[in-house]
Amino acid sequence: MGRLSDRVAIVTGGGRGIGRATALLLAQEGAHVAVLARSEDQVRAVVQEIGAQGLPRALPLSVDVSQWDQVQEAVTRVLEAFGRVDILINNAGIIQPVAPASRVDPQAWAYNIDINLKGAFFMARAVLPHMVEQKRGVIVNVSSGAAHHVITSWSAYCAAKAGLYHFTRVLAAELEGTGIRVNSVRPGVVDTEMQRIIRESRPEDFGPANLERFRRLKEEGQLLPPEYPARLIVWLCTDDAADIHGREVDIYEPEWRKRAGIPNT
Ligand code: NAP
Repeated sequence: MGRLSDRVAIVTGGGRGIGRATALLLAQEGAHVAVLARSEDQVRAVVQEIGAQGLPRALPLSVDVSQWDQVQEAVTRVLEAFGRVDILINNAGIIQPVAPASRVDPQAWAYNIDINLKGAFFMARAVLPHMVEQKRGVIVNVSSGAAHHVITSWSAYCAAKAGLYHFTRVLAAELEGTGIRVNSVRPGVVDTEMQRIIRESRPEDFGPANLERFRRLKEEGQLLPPEYPARLIVWLCTDDAADIHGREVDIYEPEWRKRAGIPNT
């Protein structure tokens, strides 16, 4: 018996990276998982991987979280398939556009906010009525150190993640005493497609010092495997974390790593 037997989870951005690792771990803990992303082939592959391990039934959904009609349709499909929603992992995210605000593409800037911030709100808005009725639920928003640090050429990403951090706090206050827990996670610098895109940014857009910093982290082997933040996220969904609500959980803090069973190396 896993710690999340028979719970129903939705993981946005579940097709690769941190979301994929989280979807697999949730399933290994006994949850039914709906795996959402825009790339149909990637969500199908993750669901197949879950099936091949003989884990509970998972559902692939090709969805753009920035589109309210698609989000509503996806949550309806999850309810039809599994009858409830207990866990929402708002993990879908993009880094682009990478350029100074003075010359960044305005539509690309807005689309970043649409996915990283508005998408997380849309998902929460769509599942919360069901969680409120159940008097139970867990929402984990995948934030970033960029919510707090100034990183030049990332104005959209930094603003979106800062917004997500504060949205989490407001939501947690609204849901106090309802049986629904909401937290955000800072997953660290993780070895995913997003980091590859960052390292391949043009120096004239990102700046040589920023580029050098992220390339060096990779060369020095300092990127975390996606399974580490996945463990932190999944731990937050279990009753072992029943006391955690309205917090920002940073993977680099030893207290959280210890509680979530993440190695210190
Ligand atoms: P990744 O490998 O690029 O995965 C991002 C996932 O989000 C993909 O499955 C992608 O699939 C999905 N996605 C993007 N836009 C979407 C949309 N509009 N609708 C639905 N799904 C969408 O990146 P990752 O590193 O695992 O990132 C996961 C989360 O961690 C992000 O929120 C990111 O900001 C955060 N984070 C990452 C790091 C890091 O170092 N990697 C650090 C701090 C925070 P499609 O493109 O197919 O839609």
